[in-house]
Amino acid sequence: MNHVIIGAGIAGVTAAQAIKETDNDADVVLIGKEDFAPYKRCQLTEFLCDLRTKTDLTFAPVESLKEMGIKFRRGQTARSINTTEKWVQLDDDEILYYDRLLIATGGQPNLGHTLRPFLKHIQRYYSLKDVVVLKKKMADIRKCIVFGEGFSCLDLLSGLYNLGKDVTFITRRERVELPLADSEFNNGLQEFLEDTGIEIITGSQVTSISKFRSHYRVMTSKHGDFYGDIVFAWDQYRPYTACIKGTNIEKKAGILVNERLETSVKDIYAAGDCAQIFHPVLNDYWINFGWPNAREQGEIAGKNMAGGNEEYKIHEVLAFNIMGKELKARWWE
Ligand SMILES: Cc1cc2nc3c(=O)[nH]c(=O)nc-3n(C[C@H](O)[C@H](O)[C@H](O)COP(=O)(O)OP(=O)(O)OC[C@H]3O[C@@H](n4cnc5c(N)ncnc54)[C@H](O)[C@@H]3O)c2cc1C
Repeated sequence: MNHVIIGAGIAGVTAAQAIKETDNDADVVLIGKEDFAPYKRCQLTEFLCDLRTKTDLTFAPVESLKEMGIKFRRGQTARSINTTEKWVQLDDDEILYYDRLLIATGGQPNLGHTLRPFLKHIQRYYSLKDVVVLKKKMADIRKCIVFGEGFSCLDLLSGLYNLGKDVTFITRRERVELPLADSEFNNGLQEFLEDTGIEIITGSQVTSISKFRSHYRVMTSKHGDFYGDIVFAWDQYRPYTACIKGTNIEKKAGILVNERLETSVKDIYAAGDCAQIFHPVLNDYWINFGWPNAREQGEIAGKNMAGGNEEYKIHEVLAFNIMGKELKARWWE
Protein backbone atom coordinates (compact mmCIF):
# COMPACT_ATOMS: atom_id res chain seq x y z
CA MET A 1 0.00 0.00 0.00
CA ASN A 2 1.36 3.46 -0.95
CA HIS A 3 0.98 6.14 1.70
CA VAL A 4 1.79 9.77 1.00
CA ILE A 5 1.95 12.31 3.83
CA ILE A 6 2.02 16.04 3.17
CA GLY A 7 3.72 17.96 6.00
CA ALA A 8 6.66 16.82 8.13
CA GLY A 9 5.59 18.41 11.39
CA ILE A 10 4.70 16.41 14.48
CA ALA A 11 1.36 15.18 13.05
CA GLY A 12 2.85 14.02 9.72
CA VAL A 13 5.95 12.38 11.20
CA THR A 14 3.99 10.58 13.94
CA ALA A 15 1.57 9.28 11.31
CA ALA A 16 4.45 8.02 9.13
CA GLN A 17 5.94 6.20 12.10
CA ALA A 18 2.58 4.73 13.12
CA ILE A 19 2.00 3.38 9.61
CA LYS A 20 5.41 1.70 9.54
CA GLU A 21 4.97 0.30 13.04
CA THR A 22 1.63 -1.23 12.00
CA ASP A 23 2.63 -2.39 8.53
CA ASN A 24 6.35 -2.58 7.91
CA ASP A 25 5.83 -3.40 4.22
CA ALA A 26 3.89 -0.20 3.58
CA ASP A 27 5.52 2.34 1.26
CA VAL A 28 5.55 5.67 3.11
CA VAL A 29 6.58 8.97 1.54
CA LEU A 30 6.77 12.03 3.81
CA ILE A 31 6.85 15.41 2.06
CA GLY A 32 8.15 18.38 4.05
CA LYS A 33 8.70 21.79 2.55
CA GLU A 34 11.12 23.02 5.20
CA ASP A 35 14.84 22.34 4.75
CA PHE A 36 15.35 20.96 8.25
CA ALA A 37 14.89 17.56 9.83
CA PRO A 38 11.53 17.51 11.70
CA TYR A 39 11.85 19.77 14.72
CA LYS A 40 9.90 20.79 17.82
CA ARG A 41 8.12 23.92 16.69
CA CYS A 42 6.78 24.40 20.23
CA GLN A 43 10.36 24.94 21.48
CA LEU A 44 11.40 27.59 18.98
CA THR A 45 11.37 30.31 21.63
CA GLU A 46 13.73 28.28 23.79
CA PHE A 47 16.08 28.13 20.82
CA LEU A 48 15.70 31.89 20.37
CA CYS A 49 16.69 32.36 24.02
CA ASP A 50 19.68 29.96 23.74
CA LEU A 51 18.03 27.56 26.19
CA ARG A 52 18.21 24.87 23.50
CA THR A 53 20.41 24.31 20.49
CA LYS A 54 19.19 23.72 16.98
CA THR A 55 20.13 20.05 17.35
CA ASP A 56 18.05 19.76 20.56
CA LEU A 57 14.98 20.73 18.56
CA THR A 58 15.16 17.74 16.20
CA PHE A 59 12.67 15.06 17.18
CA ALA A 60 13.03 12.78 14.15
CA PRO A 61 16.57 12.73 12.71
CA VAL A 62 16.70 12.02 8.98
CA GLU A 63 18.70 8.80 9.63
CA SER A 64 16.01 7.45 11.99
CA LEU A 65 13.31 8.03 9.37
CA LYS A 66 15.48 6.26 6.82
CA GLU A 67 16.06 3.34 9.19
CA MET A 68 12.30 2.95 9.56
CA GLY A 69 11.97 2.89 5.77
CA ILE A 70 10.19 6.26 5.59
CA LYS A 71 11.09 8.12 2.38
CA PHE A 72 11.54 11.70 3.50
CA ARG A 73 11.25 14.29 0.73
CA ARG A 74 12.88 17.19 2.54
CA GLY A 75 12.57 20.70 1.10
CA GLN A 76 9.78 19.72 -1.30
CA THR A 77 6.29 21.18 -1.45
CA ALA A 78 3.11 19.37 -2.42
CA ARG A 79 1.53 21.79 -4.87
CA SER A 80 -1.72 20.08 -5.75
CA ILE A 81 -3.77 16.92 -5.27
CA ASN A 82 -5.78 14.97 -7.83
CA THR A 83 -8.35 13.08 -5.76
CA THR A 84 -9.80 11.17 -8.75
CA GLU A 85 -6.54 9.74 -10.08
CA LYS A 86 -5.07 9.69 -6.56
CA TRP A 87 -1.86 11.59 -7.01
CA VAL A 88 0.02 14.51 -5.47
CA GLN A 89 2.05 16.91 -7.59
CA LEU A 90 5.23 18.36 -6.15
CA ASP A 91 6.64 21.81 -6.86
CA ASP A 92 9.09 20.32 -9.42
CA ASP A 93 6.10 18.70 -11.21
CA GLU A 94 6.91 15.19 -10.00
CA ILE A 95 3.78 13.06 -9.48
CA LEU A 96 3.45 10.74 -6.48
CA TYR A 97 0.62 8.20 -6.56
CA TYR A 98 -1.06 7.20 -3.33
CA ASP A 99 -3.51 4.62 -2.03
CA ARG A 100 -3.96 6.64 1.15
CA LEU A 101 -3.05 10.27 1.69
CA LEU A 102 -2.62 12.31 4.86
CA ILE A 103 -2.70 16.10 4.88
CA ALA A 104 -0.78 17.40 7.90
CA THR A 105 0.19 20.87 6.75
CA GLY A 106 -0.28 22.66 10.10
CA GLY A 107 -1.27 26.28 10.63
CA GLN A 108 0.45 29.56 9.89
CA PRO A 109 0.32 33.20 10.98
CA ASN A 110 -1.98 34.96 8.64
CA LEU A 111 -1.79 38.59 7.48
CA GLY A 112 -5.11 40.28 6.70
CA HIS A 113 -5.51 42.89 3.97
CA THR A 114 -4.42 45.77 6.26
CA LEU A 115 -1.05 44.22 7.13
CA ARG A 116 -0.30 42.47 3.84
CA PRO A 117 1.14 45.53 2.02
CA PHE A 118 3.82 45.79 4.75
CA LEU A 119 4.98 42.19 4.53
CA LYS A 120 8.59 43.12 3.69
CA HIS A 121 8.92 45.03 6.97
CA ILE A 122 7.49 42.24 9.12
CA GLN A 123 9.63 39.62 10.88
CA ARG A 124 7.91 36.21 10.71
CA TYR A 125 7.82 34.00 13.78
CA TYR A 126 6.69 30.52 12.86
CA SER A 127 9.47 28.33 11.53
CA LEU A 128 13.00 27.33 12.45
CA LYS A 129 14.22 29.33 9.46
CA ASP A 130 12.47 32.44 10.85
CA VAL A 131 14.20 32.01 14.20
CA VAL A 132 17.62 31.33 12.64
CA VAL A 133 17.26 34.61 10.71
CA LEU A 134 16.00 36.42 13.82
CA LYS A 135 18.84 35.20 16.03
CA LYS A 136 21.39 36.76 13.67
CA LYS A 137 19.68 40.16 14.02
CA MET A 138 19.11 39.98 17.77
CA ALA A 139 22.34 41.64 18.95
CA ASP A 140 21.44 44.85 17.07
CA ILE A 141 17.88 44.95 18.32
CA ARG A 142 16.80 46.90 21.36
CA LYS A 143 13.20 47.92 20.79
CA CYS A 144 10.65 45.36 19.52
CA ILE A 145 7.08 45.97 18.45
CA VAL A 146 4.70 43.02 18.51
CA PHE A 147 1.19 43.10 17.07
CA GLY A 148 -0.72 39.87 17.18
CA GLU A 149 -3.07 37.44 18.75
CA GLY A 150 -3.05 34.19 20.57
CA PHE A 151 -0.73 31.97 22.45
CA SER A 152 2.26 32.12 20.12
CA CYS A 153 2.23 35.89 20.64
CA LEU A 154 2.63 35.36 24.36
CA ASP A 155 5.37 32.88 23.54
CA LEU A 156 7.21 35.51 21.51
CA LEU A 157 6.71 38.23 24.17
CA SER A 158 8.19 35.95 26.80
CA GLY A 159 11.18 35.21 24.59
CA LEU A 160 11.88 38.89 23.91
CA TYR A 161 11.47 39.68 27.62
CA ASN A 162 13.91 36.92 28.58
CA LEU A 163 16.42 38.36 26.11
CA GLY A 164 16.15 41.74 27.87
CA LYS A 165 14.52 43.55 24.97
CA ASP A 166 12.35 46.60 25.26
CA VAL A 167 8.91 45.44 24.06
CA THR A 168 5.70 47.16 23.00
CA PHE A 169 2.73 44.86 22.49
CA ILE A 170 -0.20 46.18 20.47
CA THR A 171 -3.49 44.31 20.44
CA ARG A 172 -6.88 44.97 18.90
CA ARG A 173 -8.57 43.64 22.02
CA GLU A 174 -9.65 45.93 24.84
CA ARG A 175 -7.67 43.77 27.27
CA VAL A 176 -4.87 41.26 26.77
CA GLU A 177 -6.49 37.87 26.88
CA LEU A 178 -6.07 34.44 25.45
CA PRO A 179 -9.37 33.02 24.36
CA LEU A 180 -8.18 29.55 25.21
CA ALA A 181 -6.62 30.05 28.60
CA ASP A 182 -8.52 29.37 31.83
CA SER A 183 -10.08 32.39 33.49
CA GLU A 184 -7.67 32.58 36.44
CA PHE A 185 -4.64 32.81 34.16
CA ASN A 186 -6.48 35.01 31.71
CA ASN A 187 -7.81 37.59 34.19
CA GLY A 188 -4.39 38.50 35.48
CA LEU A 189 -2.55 38.26 32.18
CA GLN A 190 -2.47 41.95 31.30
CA GLU A 191 -1.20 42.99 34.75
CA PHE A 192 1.26 40.12 34.68
CA LEU A 193 2.73 41.36 31.40
CA GLU A 194 2.73 45.00 32.51
CA ASP A 195 4.60 44.04 35.69
CA THR A 196 7.40 42.66 33.54
CA GLY A 197 7.81 46.10 31.93
CA ILE A 198 6.19 45.28 28.60
CA GLU A 199 4.33 48.31 27.25
CA ILE A 200 0.78 47.26 26.37
CA ILE A 201 -1.41 49.13 23.90
CA THR A 202 -4.95 47.80 23.76
CA GLY A 203 -7.83 48.45 21.37
CA SER A 204 -5.59 49.48 18.47
CA GLN A 205 -4.93 48.19 14.96
CA VAL A 206 -1.62 48.58 13.13
CA THR A 207 -2.46 50.57 10.02
CA SER A 208 0.96 50.96 8.43
CA ILE A 209 4.61 49.96 8.85
CA SER A 210 7.37 51.90 7.14
CA LYS A 211 11.13 52.21 7.26
CA PHE A 212 12.22 55.28 9.23
CA ARG A 213 16.00 55.90 9.15
CA SER A 214 17.45 52.71 10.63
CA HIS A 215 14.18 51.88 12.46
CA TYR A 216 10.58 51.10 11.62
CA ARG A 217 7.62 53.37 12.17
CA VAL A 218 4.39 51.62 13.13
CA MET A 219 1.21 53.66 12.80
CA THR A 220 -1.83 52.59 14.79
CA SER A 221 -5.53 53.37 14.49
CA LYS A 222 -5.95 54.95 17.94
CA HIS A 223 -2.62 55.41 19.70
CA GLY A 224 -0.39 57.27 17.26
CA ASP A 225 3.02 56.08 16.06
CA PHE A 226 5.57 53.72 17.59
CA TYR A 227 9.20 53.23 16.61
CA GLY A 228 11.15 50.00 16.83
CA ASP A 229 14.16 48.11 15.50
CA ILE A 230 12.00 45.15 14.51
CA VAL A 231 8.29 44.54 13.95
CA PHE A 232 6.46 41.23 14.44
CA ALA A 233 2.87 41.26 13.24
CA TRP A 234 0.11 38.87 12.31
CA ASP A 235 -3.66 38.77 12.54
CA GLN A 236 -4.27 35.18 13.55
CA TYR A 237 -3.05 31.63 13.14
CA ARG A 238 -4.99 29.79 10.46
CA PRO A 239 -4.95 26.21 9.19
CA TYR A 240 -2.68 26.11 6.14
CA THR A 241 -4.54 24.29 3.39
CA ALA A 242 -3.20 25.69 0.11
CA CYS A 243 -2.52 22.23 -1.33
CA ILE A 244 -6.22 21.20 -1.35
CA LYS A 245 -7.23 24.13 -3.54
CA GLY A 246 -9.31 22.94 -6.49
CA THR A 247 -10.16 19.60 -4.87
CA ASN A 248 -13.49 18.41 -3.50
CA ILE A 249 -12.06 17.98 0.01
CA GLU A 250 -14.45 19.83 2.32
CA LYS A 251 -13.12 22.60 4.52
CA LYS A 252 -14.26 25.45 6.73
CA ALA A 253 -11.38 27.21 8.49
CA GLY A 254 -9.54 23.87 8.39
CA ILE A 255 -9.97 20.55 6.60
CA LEU A 256 -13.09 18.81 7.92
CA VAL A 257 -12.58 15.34 9.35
CA ASN A 258 -14.62 12.83 11.33
CA GLU A 259 -13.44 11.15 14.55
CA ARG A 260 -11.39 8.67 12.48
CA LEU A 261 -9.68 11.70 10.92
CA GLU A 262 -11.07 10.91 7.48
CA THR A 263 -11.85 13.84 5.20
CA SER A 264 -14.90 14.01 2.94
CA VAL A 265 -12.89 12.23 0.22
CA LYS A 266 -12.26 8.49 0.52
CA ASP A 267 -8.71 7.48 1.47
CA ILE A 268 -7.71 11.03 2.39
CA TYR A 269 -7.08 11.88 6.03
CA ALA A 270 -6.08 15.11 7.81
CA ALA A 271 -4.45 15.62 11.22
CA GLY A 272 -2.93 18.36 13.36
CA ASP A 273 -3.42 22.10 13.15
CA CYS A 274 -4.75 21.95 9.56
CA ALA A 275 -7.71 19.76 10.57
CA GLN A 276 -11.11 20.65 11.98
CA ILE A 277 -12.61 17.69 13.79
CA PHE A 278 -16.27 16.96 14.33
CA HIS A 279 -17.20 17.66 17.95
CA PRO A 280 -20.28 15.59 18.86
CA VAL A 281 -21.24 17.80 21.85
CA LEU A 282 -20.91 21.11 20.02
CA ASN A 283 -22.37 19.47 16.92
CA ASP A 284 -19.83 21.46 14.94
CA TYR A 285 -16.22 21.28 13.79
CA TRP A 286 -13.40 22.31 16.10
CA ILE A 287 -9.64 22.83 15.74
CA ASN A 288 -8.02 20.91 18.58
CA PHE A 289 -4.62 22.47 18.07
CA GLY A 290 -1.32 22.39 19.93
CA TRP A 291 1.67 20.06 19.89
CA PRO A 292 0.34 17.12 22.00
CA ASN A 293 -2.96 17.10 20.12
CA ALA A 294 -1.22 17.11 16.72
CA ARG A 295 0.95 14.18 17.83
CA GLU A 296 -2.06 12.17 19.03
CA GLN A 297 -4.03 12.92 15.87
CA GLY A 298 -1.03 11.93 13.74
CA GLU A 299 -0.81 8.61 15.53
CA ILE A 300 -4.51 7.84 15.09
CA ALA A 301 -4.54 8.92 11.44
CA GLY A 302 -1.48 6.75 10.76
CA LYS A 303 -3.00 3.69 12.42
CA ASN A 304 -6.26 4.14 10.53
CA MET A 305 -4.44 4.59 7.22
CA ALA A 306 -2.74 1.27 7.92
CA GLY A 307 -6.11 -0.45 8.40
CA GLY A 308 -7.01 0.40 12.01
CA ASN A 309 -10.27 1.77 13.30
CA GLU A 310 -9.44 4.24 16.05
CA GLU A 311 -11.31 7.35 17.06
CA TYR A 312 -9.78 10.61 18.20
CA LYS A 313 -11.39 11.98 21.33
CA ILE A 314 -11.47 15.77 21.36
CA HIS A 315 -9.89 17.17 24.50
CA GLU A 316 -12.19 19.57 26.30
CA VAL A 317 -9.18 21.13 27.95
CA LEU A 318 -6.94 22.32 25.17
CA ALA A 319 -3.24 21.69 25.23
CA PHE A 320 -2.48 25.38 25.22
CA ASN A 321 -4.25 25.87 28.54
CA ILE A 322 -2.00 23.37 30.19
CA MET A 323 1.08 24.40 28.30
CA GLY A 324 0.33 28.04 29.02
CA LYS A 325 0.45 27.43 32.73
CA GLU A 326 3.50 25.21 32.65
CA LEU A 327 5.37 27.50 30.34
CA LYS A 328 4.45 30.52 32.41
CA ALA A 329 6.28 29.04 35.33
CA ARG A 330 9.24 27.95 33.25
CA TRP A 331 9.61 31.01 31.06
CA TRP A 332 9.15 33.85 33.47
CA GLU A 333 10.90 32.62 36.57
C1 LIG B 1 6.47 29.87 18.15
C2 LIG B 1 5.51 28.77 18.46
C3 LIG B 1 5.42 28.28 19.77
C4 LIG B 1 4.54 27.26 20.08
N1 LIG B 1 4.48 26.79 21.37
C5 LIG B 1 3.65 25.77 21.67
C6 LIG B 1 3.58 25.23 22.99
O1 LIG B 1 4.26 25.68 23.88
N2 LIG B 1 2.72 24.21 23.22
C7 LIG B 1 1.94 23.65 22.24
O2 LIG B 1 1.18 22.73 22.51
N3 LIG B 1 2.00 24.15 20.98
C8 LIG B 1 2.81 25.18 20.68
N4 LIG B 1 2.85 25.67 19.40
C9 LIG B 1 1.95 25.09 18.40
C10 LIG B 1 2.50 23.77 17.89
O3 LIG B 1 3.83 23.95 17.47
C11 LIG B 1 1.61 23.29 16.78
O4 LIG B 1 0.31 23.09 17.30
C12 LIG B 1 2.11 21.98 16.17
O5 LIG B 1 3.41 22.17 15.67
C13 LIG B 1 1.17 21.50 15.08
O6 LIG B 1 1.74 20.41 14.46
P1 LIG B 1 1.36 20.04 12.95
O7 LIG B 1 2.18 18.84 12.61
O8 LIG B 1 -0.12 19.97 12.83
O9 LIG B 1 1.79 21.30 12.08
P2 LIG B 1 3.17 22.05 11.87
O10 LIG B 1 4.06 21.92 13.04
O11 LIG B 1 2.81 23.43 11.46
O12 LIG B 1 3.84 21.26 10.68
C14 LIG B 1 3.30 21.29 9.38
C15 LIG B 1 4.44 21.16 8.39
O13 LIG B 1 3.90 21.00 7.08
C16 LIG B 1 4.67 21.75 6.17
N5 LIG B 1 3.86 22.01 4.98
C17 LIG B 1 2.81 22.84 4.86
N6 LIG B 1 2.31 22.78 3.61
C18 LIG B 1 3.09 21.89 2.93
C19 LIG B 1 3.08 21.42 1.59
N7 LIG B 1 2.14 21.82 0.70
N8 LIG B 1 4.04 20.53 1.21
C20 LIG B 1 4.98 20.11 2.10
N9 LIG B 1 5.02 20.53 3.39
C21 LIG B 1 4.08 21.39 3.79
C22 LIG B 1 4.99 23.01 6.97
O14 LIG B 1 6.09 23.71 6.42
C23 LIG B 1 5.31 22.41 8.34
O15 LIG B 1 6.66 22.05 8.43
C24 LIG B 1 3.72 26.71 19.07
C25 LIG B 1 3.81 27.18 17.76
C26 LIG B 1 4.69 28.22 17.46
C27 LIG B 1 4.78 28.71 16.04
